[in-house]
Amino acid sequence: MSAIETERQTEQVAIAGVDIRTEDIAAVAEVLASGRLREGEVTAEFERAFARRVGAVHAVAVSSGSAALHLAYLAMFQPGDEVIVPSFTFVATASMLSAIGAVPVFADVDERTFTLSLADAESRITPRTRGIVGVHLFGNACDVDGVTALARRHGLAVVWDAAQALGTRYRHRDVGAFPVATCYSFYPTKNITTGEGGMVVTDDAALADTLRLSRSHGAAGKYVHLRLGFNYRTTDMASALGLSQLARLDGYLARRRENAATLTAGLSGVPGVTVPCPAPSADHSYNQYSILVGWHGNGRLDRDQLAAAIGPRGVQTAVHYPRPLHRQPMYAGANGGLTAAERLPVSERLCEHILALPVHPGVGPAQAGRVAALVKAAMSGDS
Ligand SMILES: *Cc1c(COP(=O)(O)O)cnc(C)c1O
Repeated sequence: MSAIETERQTEQVAIAGVDIRTEDIAAVAEVLASGRLREGEVTAEFERAFARRVGAVHAVAVSSGSAALHLAYLAMFQPGDEVIVPSFTFVATASMLSAIGAVPVFADVDERTFTLSLADAESRITPRTRGIVGVHLFGNACDVDGVTALARRHGLAVVWDAAQALGTRYRHRDVGAFPVATCYSFYPTKNITTGEGGMVVTDDAALADTLRLSRSHGAAGKYVHLRLGFNYRTTDMASALGLSQLARLDGYLARRRENAATLTAGLSGVPGVTVPCPAPSADHSYNQYSILVGWHGNGRLDRDQLAAAIGPRGVQTAVHYPRPLHRQPMYAGANGGLTAAERLPVSERLCEHILALPVHPGVGPAQAGRVAALVKAAMSGDS
């Protein structure tokens, strides 16, 4: 083996990475030099640019994606309200409902798109159900028309969790353009980052006003508090980084989609590997590229064996998620005491078979090809 080949063999392909450029640093440094660090004009500019980008009327910047969900839920639901959420998602989708005293009711997901199963969601509607949360998981679009129609039939409010889906489109419209509220995160693994940060977008002016109040202790003017609120403000340093990153979003999305196409081309037909399936009408943004290993009972290696085989060859992987929310210790007894007969079989099985491969913009075309080749070799037994 030549020296170059040895080097290639051990080259690391990380599962996530941030892209911080000179212009990002300059934008943040400018805010620092101004001395105006708190939420101010730069944040207002970030909100306007973000709303324009996703085709929403109002955007409200907050300190995290979890804060975005918390404030949207607080504005839209009451304590005791049942709200349907998928079980296969990040905990904040559900836990921020618990934070306001609402009751998350876990529904199963579709095994191809990993997003909410409409049939299962509908079966869980009771007279106390007030809302439904569609999660655009991994950057795939959930069935926006289906969820909207279901919500209309049963008089439910809809919140979209697009923490992983900045840039995802549904029927050629950005997922942020659908009523009534869409929540984003700017954590370092998301499609753009501000370190920590989040955004709620909406076309509802009254809702936007409520969100603005509650992100800052419900304060209208100095020491006049109209409603319960929090300190969920962001900073102008974070917003300067967000504006700078947002300007490169199209490039990031193009690279994610290109890497996903390379992975899918290299992995289609590999025994034991199921490649991700963009939902009908979805323009997937591939915040995560998650394959299923041995889903159909086939394949030489299981998920953990595959991760162990390619890890030493430099390919980092991750499991999103190893445990469905209805099986989390904090939700033991959820769904009114989920019995064995009321299991969520798809969510539970996905957690055993899912594996995320590197797809972020820091992964070059040759690296994406190498990742696919290593997975294929490992699953075919000729590595
Ligand atoms: C990241 C994420 C959140 C929470 O965002 P934070 O910024 O980490 O608080 C919520 N929902 C989903 C689906 C996420 O991926």
